Amino acid sequence: MDFLQLAQDFELPLYVYDGEKIVEKINQLREAFADLPLKIKYAVKALSNISILKLIKSQGVGADVVSIQEAHIAIKAGFLPDEILFTPNGVSFEEIQQAVELGIHINIDNLSTLERFGNEYKNSVACCIRINPHILAGGNSKIQVGHIDSKFGISVLQMRHVLRIVEHYNINVSGLHMHTGSDILDASAFLRGAEILFENAMLFKNLKFLDFGSGFKVAYKKDDIVTDLTDLGQKLTLAYQDFCKNYGKNLEIWFEPGKYIVSESGYFLVKTNVIKQTPANIFVAVDSGLNHLIRPMFYDAYHQIINVSNPDAPLRIYNVVGYICETDTFGIDRQINEVREGDILVFKNAGAYGFMMSSNYNSRFRPAEVLVYKEKTHLIRQRETMEDILKNQILVKDF
Ligand SMILES: *Cc1c(COP(=O)(O)O)cnc(C)c1O
Repeated sequence: MDFLQLAQDFELPLYVYDGEKIVEKINQLREAFADLPLKIKYAVKALSNISILKLIKSQGVGADVVSIQEAHIAIKAGFLPDEILFTPNGVSFEEIQQAVELGIHINIDNLSTLERFGNEYKNSVACCIRINPHILAGGNSKIQVGHIDSKFGISVLQMRHVLRIVEHYNINVSGLHMHTGSDILDASAFLRGAEILFENAMLFKNLKFLDFGSGFKVAYKKDDIVTDLTDLGQKLTLAYQDFCKNYGKNLEIWFEPGKYIVSESGYFLVKTNVIKQTPANIFVAVDSGLNHLIRPMFYDAYHQIINVSNPDAPLRIYNVVGYICETDTFGIDRQINEVREGDILVFKNAGAYGFMMSSNYNSRFRPAEVLVYKEKTHLIRQRETMEDILKNQILVKDF
């Protein structure tokens, strides 16, 4: 990736995605679960640019969406309704109805919605049920979603209640789902969740698929431990084969990774505005901030930062900060090749939840996005302009 050329051709800050990397990650997943009837449903919320979605769709992958808007984007990008699973949390029943009208699969995550769904559709529309197996996974507490106090899914302790509703309305349950959170380190924790899903699947006669969610950890630092997918694949395959014998039928196995597929493909390019030496630190202030990449501040996420303008210079220690009028620290005590004002820095692992969580805070423009694929560079989103900032604002005329 020629970052200096990209910085010249497009204004900074800039998000750049490596299409080949996305394809490579999809293939790695397929390989790890090669012995399972696998379907991948890409979690659109990680990065929903329609050109990225089109590329992912071209690899035979489906989509997992969490809002009706994401469903519309996915359909616009070319996904067929039947390839899309809608996994919302706490949305209105009207939104569920709109999703049913689009013809996408519905994943239900609370008893109240299940009851309304049964009342409305009886067995005319199939649905999936999201179970919370209460298995702990995930690094930062904000991304742990499987614990007992979590708002996600229907507690596995409430299965009797689920069954009563399903039987009463004769609901057609075609799938069971779990998503225990991001950053699974331990295959055994994941497999415990899987066992719980297999056990509960025995309670439903017409299942077509089991969805194991996501949470595969990717490397943010050089020696980061990542999910051992080969090991997980082998163990899950054995458990699955046992299950199928008991169930009497082979079910599809779905996964819905977001971060795993797009994180490493993404680079965020910024320019150094100011080097500020204080009695205690050297700050590198760049032309961006939490308005463009909030993960370091929001999740304590680590993004490696490299200086592509001065790669052979000696390493020095810096605090890299943004230009927002808030404390927006990208990294503390980072070893980076000597940074000069004007140097271009690159944040790695910026594909997932980077651009997607960007905002107009401080009334700044959101950056452009570029996709590099098969030796071609495509602008896939324009940088915003003053017009975008003002577009929906209304200047009151009365005073
Ligand atoms: C966010 C989310 C995912 C994707 O999680 P990653 O950590 O990005 O892989 C998958 N499924 C559901 C239901 C989600 O909410």
